[in-house]
Amino acid sequence: MHARTKPRTDPYVWATWISKLLAGESSCVWSAWFRAHHHVGAKVETDFDLELWRVEHTALIRRTAADFASLGYTVTVESQNQFTLAGRLGTLAGRPDLVAVKGDEGWIIDGKTGQPKGSDRVQVMLYMWALQKANPAYAGVRFRGRVEYKARYGIIDPGEADTAFVTRVAGLMREVCGPNEPRKAPSYRECQSCPLTPDDCGDRVDTEAIFAGVTEEF
Ligand code: SF4
Repeated sequence: MHARTKPRTDPYVWATWISKLLAGESSCVWSAWFRAHHHVGAKVETDFDLELWRVEHTALIRRTAADFASLGYTVTVESQNQFTLAGRLGTLAGRPDLVAVKGDEGWIIDGKTGQPKGSDRVQVMLYMWALQKANPAYAGVRFRGRVEYKARYGIIDPGEADTAFVTRVAGLMREVCGPNEPRKAPSYRECQSCPLTPDDCGDRVDTEAIFAGVTEEF
């Protein structure tokens, strides 16, 4: 374990950690389990341009916030929207980029600067379910979701965050917050998008290995 990695008192899970698992874009539950149970001391460095992302993301959110404000919505952004939802085994946390409310109608919006992915929608669905439970001020609001990309957006209807979805979320949260270590799923593709260093995960795969056979059948 990395020298600065420390156990948490209680499991704590950010919505972004489980949205890819729920969408089927990743399968290593251990990664989320470990982060739920530990303050991770160091993360793998990537060539991701964080500064460029911040500039593009801020512009996207400011533009969308201005659009909704001009339509008469009350708009709150980023840290204003941070929430926690405590269960018996641990806490789910999130920070939607933008919440816009007018009367009993509302939007929960997240801005994405990359290519559209299923997990983008799942992340907003998590917010649509959890934010309303965490913030009593939103109790009577009918929220729709929106994933905002640079040149388009996707809409999520209220019914998509339904009972079946919540059952899947609750099941995964029980696994991620529970005491038993889930199975790891090390692979080059998965490990390259995992922030855990080899000090925290000894099974990290950093070289690509493909089974390469030969056949005469085609
Ligand atoms: S480095 Fe790979 S095996 Fe280890 S937790 Fe991350 S995804 Fe799983």
